[in-house]
Amino acid sequence: MNRINLLSQRLANQIAAGEVVERPASVVKELLENSLDSEATRLDIDIEQGGVKLIRIRDNGAGILKEDLPLALSRHATSKIRELTDLETIASLGFRGEALASISSVSRLTLQSRSQLAEDALAWQVQAEGQEMLAEVTPVSHPQGTTAEVRDLFFNTPARRKFLRTEKTEFARIEEIVKRLALSRFDVQFTINHNQRTVHHLQAVRSEFEKQRRVSMVCGPAFVEKSALVDVERAGLRLWGWVSLPTFSRSQADLQYFYVNGRIIRDKLVAHAIRQAYRDVLFHGRHPAYVLYLELAPSAVDVNVHPTKHEVRFRDSRSVHDFLFIALHKTLAEVRPGDQIPKGIDPVNESVPGGRGIHPEAMVQMQSQDELSLGGPGTSNKYSYQQFRDNGQQPLQYAAGFAHKNALTVLYQTDAEIPPLGYALAQLHGIYILAQNKDGLIVVDMHAAHERITYERMKIAASAEQLKMQTLLVPVSLAVSQAEADCAEEQQQILLSLGIELERVAAESIVVRQVPALLKDSNVEQLVRDVLSDVMEFGNSERIQAHHDDLLSTMACHGSVRANRQLTIPEMNALLRDMEATERSGQCNHGRPTWVYQSLDALDKLFMRGQ
Ligand code: ADP
Ligand code: MG
Repeated sequence: MNRINLLSQRLANQIAAGEVVERPASVVKELLENSLDSEATRLDIDIEQGGVKLIRIRDNGAGILKEDLPLALSRHATSKIRELTDLETIASLGFRGEALASISSVSRLTLQSRSQLAEDALAWQVQAEGQEMLAEVTPVSHPQGTTAEVRDLFFNTPARRKFLRTEKTEFARIEEIVKRLALSRFDVQFTINHNQRTVHHLQAVRSEFEKQRRVSMVCGPAFVEKSALVDVERAGLRLWGWVSLPTFSRSQADLQYFYVNGRIIRDKLVAHAIRQAYRDVLFHGRHPAYVLYLELAPSAVDVNVHPTKHEVRFRDSRSVHDFLFIALHKTLAEVRPGDQIPKGIDPVNESVPGGRGIHPEAMVQMQSQDELSLGGPGTSNKYSYQQFRDNGQQPLQYAAGFAHKNALTVLYQTDAEIPPLGYALAQLHGIYILAQNKDGLIVVDMHAAHERITYERMKIAASAEQLKMQTLLVPVSLAVSQAEADCAEEQQQILLSLGIELERVAAESIVVRQVPALLKDSNVEQLVRDVLSDVMEFGNSERIQAHHDDLLSTMACHGSVRANRQLTIPEMNALLRDMEATERSGQCNHGRPTWVYQSLDALDKLFMRGQ
């Protein structure tokens, strides 16, 4: 057994660096965060060889005083907090005072700065090399602000160096970091050069249009075109930003930016709330894309839970979860065809090649979604659309106006006689409806569209039915963990409101007596287990709703107009009007688009007219 000894400063820093400095991108993140904390409005980033050879970040922020320069490099030295209570209202990105110390312990670091407080207007520099501080502070020439230069990252920790990937991959990660920060601070200019070539230049944003353009540059124009704007405020919480329409889903969860008070985070609770909001509209296994900003009182969130500050803890996580879910769910439900058709009046789209009409990328997206099978589209012509409408179905609730009062709908209000999806012209191969609106062609997949309309109606009709509970003839007993049994006991009211009646019969055993009537034939044990684990983690469960919706969705699919049925023009028009009035009508129950749009301009291009 060895004796205990105190680690040297240097070793302690190198160990800490293990957490904070994983790769070049983490250095870039820390340096940029420092610059943003210093109120810089201009950031110039120079990278060489994926950041391994050089990372240089120059800002025009407040700078560092000569006397503070050596301190900046030491561990646990920060200008951002003085005592623990400061943490509760922290507004800066940093506060741990260990980034520069960690970085300098595994690289050759130079810090040059001129403070706005320096009366003599002189600039100074300090250097460190793998924790060997080159003691003296020397004069340099530098405008107000700071330049941090990191050379030869991991030169003294070969083990770390071995984990680095190719130059291209490391640079891609750096780019990702810059993107994240660029979306968090629209008011700051970012320039990034790799091997002396400018890769991105993002001007500071001065208007809503420019804001949208930055999002478009970072996330791609297709995302902005195929997304809905969110801005909801309630009880001290505000959520704003862009969420993708369900027809712009992705195979990877790679276009998801979520900020809490300007800090990007990845959080299970947040991810869960967003997933739930998309549950009913997204194709299975696809991921939504979003750029979202949550703003709340700093005291309502703890940022000090992880060294890289990627995680946060909400004081009232349940209400944050509910707020996110409700806000997004509502936004997605309210999207109507009129909101989705690009009108070509938007300067953002103007500046994007091919930006008008459906972006080619979005078109590809749609095609690939179309290839996913519908699960055996039968050809039985059970119902005609008119019959369906007339046969005692609930009258549609026509929305009084479009919820999205953006420029696009305003356009239509001044020209109200042509509805967004236009008027039917013909039916193609018994599958598609062709229609024309004010400025282009609409193609509707009639089965998919009708299916969504039927489904939404059934959901309204079923919502009363759903609350009915059915007593199980043979109660189901389940062996569960103590924690699960506690939860079943404590959360009886919530479970009852979901239609589940449980009783705890022993420390680790419960009995299920009643379940929602519609779900009595499902796998009760699995359902109850899943619901319990949701309630334990998130305080509630959407599973019952999801199961109900699945059932209704299947029923809707079978009750909808099949392919190869001839519709009359009035029937087709009735379907188009219903689509405009129905929630989530842009996608069928399986998340496939129900309609696509081609502007006249886009068609003209196909035929090279006017070129
Ligand atoms: P933290 O950011 O957690 O305070 P760092 O090690 O990243 O810790 O930085 C230490 C200190 O150095 C900061 O608190 C700040 O005062 C100063 N500093 C670092 N970078 C800059 C910069 N670009 N501009 C002004 N001050 C800086
Ligand atoms: Mg810092």
